[in-house]
Amino acid sequence: MVKAIATHLGSALIQAEAYANLEDLNQQLEALDRTRSNLIAITGHELRTPLSTIQVCLESLSTEPDMPAELRQVMLNTALSDSERMRKLVQDFLTLSNLESGRVEWHPESLTLKECIDLSLSRVNTRVVQEELPEITTDVAKKLPLVKADGDWLVEVLAKLIDNACKFTPSGGQIKISAHLNKQHMVEVTVADTGRGIEPNRLEVVFDRFYQEEGALRRTAGGTGLGLAICRQIVIGWGGEIWAKSLGKDQGSEFHFTIPVFEGSQGQKRSKVNSN
Ligand code: ADP
Repeated sequence: MVKAIATHLGSALIQAEAYANLEDLNQQLEALDRTRSNLIAITGHELRTPLSTIQVCLESLSTEPDMPAELRQVMLNTALSDSERMRKLVQDFLTLSNLESGRVEWHPESLTLKECIDLSLSRVNTRVVQEELPEITTDVAKKLPLVKADGDWLVEVLAKLIDNACKFTPSGGQIKISAHLNKQHMVEVTVADTGRGIEPNRLEVVFDRFYQEEGALRRTAGGTGLGLAICRQIVIGWGGEIWAKSLGKDQGSEFHFTIPVFEGSQGQKRSKVNSN
């Protein structure tokens, strides 16, 4: 009799566990569905806004042949910059989607971090619209070991963080790029600026897709809101971590990320970073 009750209780427990698992699965599927719908809504909105502007500009240009030359130029420039914004958005969106779904080929190699920093700095001038860049200094620890990462993606992360630091730091400010070997035996890179800073409760959401703080800078800064989400996927790809710290309002921000050390023969260097 006792044995029969125990068996009955056992199967009831298994059933209850199965229901709980099913419930859990259902909740996960619902959450996934909500994410998908949000993503479609946000992407649609982000694309519709520049598209509407382009349409208005082109309609005005085609229906008002006597439009003053100056105004015509303004219309053309607006249409061009909004189409560039759409191109960037689609490109970033595809990059992020490829990274998230594992459709990216990784080519890990041994790299000298200093070279990668120099290469990303040479790209900043061409990517940042600001007239006068803040002062940029570097402080890379001597005898830093080689790192193991995909060079092109590493330069992409560095360039993006430096771009952001430039965008959100007024001229006269400073940006410092530093690197050292941390306690976990990973190379830790920091991009610190003296710009507007990030609210403490925003330090994690800045890595979410399409997160952009509302305000005057939103459009003029010209970003897509996908840059940090892309950086996070890249860093996760080589087994590192990325996080942000705020130094207080208008005191600046710090972005940190880690890269594994290349455990091969010391001094060997095989830099295949694409310098184009
Ligand atoms: P984007 O720069 O294209 O807007 P990102 O994903 O690179 O998108 O950044 C998301 C948001 O995080 C920015 O819009 C900004 O609000 C905030 N942010 C990023 N970097 C900094 C920084 N160095 N200082 C202050 N805020 C920053």
